[in-house]
Amino acid sequence: MGYRRMTLAELLGDLVAFRSLTPQDEGLPGFLQLRGRLGLSEEHPPRKGEAAYARVVVEILREAQARRGARLHRLLYLGDTKRNDALTIKALSHHLPIRGFIAAESLEESQRIEIKTRVMFANRWEGLAAFQDWLEDFPVDEGTALILDLDKTAFGARGRNDGAVDSARMAALYRMAEETLGQDFQRESFKALYLKLNKQEYHFFTRDNQDYLAYICLMAVGGAYPPSALLSDLSSGRLHDLAGFIRRCQENGVPRRLLPIHQEVSQGHLRGDPTPFKGFRRWEYRETVARMDWLPDTTSREELLKGEIVLTPEVIEFCHWAKDKGALLFGLTDKPDEASLPTPKLRAQGYLPLHHVPMKLAGP
Ligand SMILES: [Mg+2]
Repeated sequence: MGYRRMTLAELLGDLVAFRSLTPQDEGLPGFLQLRGRLGLSEEHPPRKGEAAYARVVVEILREAQARRGARLHRLLYLGDTKRNDALTIKALSHHLPIRGFIAAESLEESQRIEIKTRVMFANRWEGLAAFQDWLEDFPVDEGTALILDLDKTAFGARGRNDGAVDSARMAALYRMAEETLGQDFQRESFKALYLKLNKQEYHFFTRDNQDYLAYICLMAVGGAYPPSALLSDLSSGRLHDLAGFIRRCQENGVPRRLLPIHQEVSQGHLRGDPTPFKGFRRWEYRETVARMDWLPDTTSREELLKGEIVLTPEVIEFCHWAKDKGALLFGLTDKPDEASLPTPKLRAQGYLPLHHVPMKLAGP
């Protein structure tokens, strides 16, 4: 048996923007160009769900439409997170009529579809067929733009294949820690601390920010803030934010081998950069690409969905349908640019932006 393969660029071209809100198509403006035009006060690109995010996205889509001689009348949105994607749809709805589809697959549950105002929630990706039916009274044509979330929607479908996306991040954490700590790297204690602090009860401290979390775990197992002291300071309330953590590490004395990362992250944090740990994200890019189209065609679907990042057939099919009706397709993701694009050095070695990397298509 053979799997079909394609790249997202075959559908989207370079109409893709990662977290920096800079379209990969250089003919389109991004956050930096639009900030002044839209009178936004944000210094850093706004995040999904924020009002400014919606304003920038709508403006980019208007430009993309103008370039092909069309107006922007309506939006469609495909995503996977109940909170962030639903908030993004709501923010976009203040500008244009919109309908969204959000799925997280759960095969243990019986199939369920629920419509709340302008969003259809489903526990199967095949629920997209019902979404298509729901669009009977919502024109899909040249005046429509389809916003496609990439991470865990177009590929690594939530509830089905997202474990492969998460394992790329975990592998990146290990690589980064190994590179920094060498022989002293103890994978088990690093993993235990990461899994503990990644829980919701510690979001007050980590802000659910993977860059912060990677840095915190590295500093802790690397000797700048012993894990036991860290956990007891968190439970006693002596420590409650990253600024405090950085200060405490400096007081304790940061080991020499951790200094470059400590400086990179603490300075980025001071500047307000929400993705301050660039080195970690570069590892994440490499580990993500390494999990695309690497298993042989004889691999069973079940194994493939566990070990490889694949495209979501139902989503791709829906995109083709909308494109055939004339809709503009645009890929939009919160994935940091550093985790999605090769450095110039890697590019010279043949590494490609994620949307240009061939992936297999595989469903359940
Ligand atoms: Mg997503």
